Amino acid sequence: MIEISGLTKRYGATTVLDGIDLRVEDGRIAAVVGPSGAGKSTLARCVNLLERPTSGSISVSGADLAALSGRDLRRARQQIGTVFQAANLLRRLTAAQNVALPMRNQGLPENEVRRRVGDLLERVGMMHRANHYPSQLSGGQRQRIGIARGLALKPSVLLSDEATSGLDPNSTRAILALLTELRDDLGVTILVITHEMDVVRGIADHVAQLDHGRIVEQGSVADIVRRS
Ligand code: ADP
Ligand code: ADP
Repeated sequence: MIEISGLTKRYGATTVLDGIDLRVEDGRIAAVVGPSGAGKSTLARCVNLLERPTSGSISVSGADLAALSGRDLRRARQQIGTVFQAANLLRRLTAAQNVALPMRNQGLPENEVRRRVGDLLERVGMMHRANHYPSQLSGGQRQRIGIARGLALKPSVLLSDEATSGLDPNSTRAILALLTELRDDLGVTILVITHEMDVVRGIADHVAQLDHGRIVEQGSVADIVRRS
């Protein structure tokens, strides 16, 4: 379970996130939706521990991430896999090497890396593109590789930060279907951050609307769509 409570982030005198409370149960898909400038990327960077909150807590499976440092923080980071906008793959590495990278950085034995890269490529339907470079892949294919890399260290939470932005509607649907399948098969908890309400409709069990750094509304997709 992810539990965000009283999360506040300030840059100098500017409050970008103002007391965010959000709970995502295990194996659920939650979405945070909001317009540009609402604070979505800041929230994403706090959740995947690239930034420290000014105050408040973020816990994954009971451990408060904001309180950790050093080795504990590095270990906690592995609990959260991130899929970035436009996938953010290294262009000099093949698809397989991109997926392998987090495991190699961890120093996992090469035979295990090899086996896991194969499993992950299979799972995202990209075995046939293992040795292609990012420039040889479509946007949707790059995003599949980004998802496989996000899952490389067996995280309990997958954070999707505008992962379908810039994809055409068909590729977007395919990526959302893949995320749902991964949730069903692996039991991974998914937090989707997006500016697109359509993405939310297609996938989320729970939706929070973010505006000016605050959650202005949250509930089931049906609740939110009915009210908006
Ligand atoms: P979104 O992803 O929803 O577009 P952001 O999290 O990028 O929103 O930004 C929310 C607000 O915080 C914006 O007004 C932005 O200018 C401000 N902001 C983001 N990062 C910084 C920073 N490092 N320093 C100052 N202001 C920032
Ligand atoms: P390197 O020269 O860095 O080993 P590779 O592309 O051969 O580059 O391999 C990157 C990682 O992905 C390795 O762990 C490799 O075993 C694995 N790998 C490469 N191609 C495939 C494939 N078609 N199926 C499964 N795993 C692969």
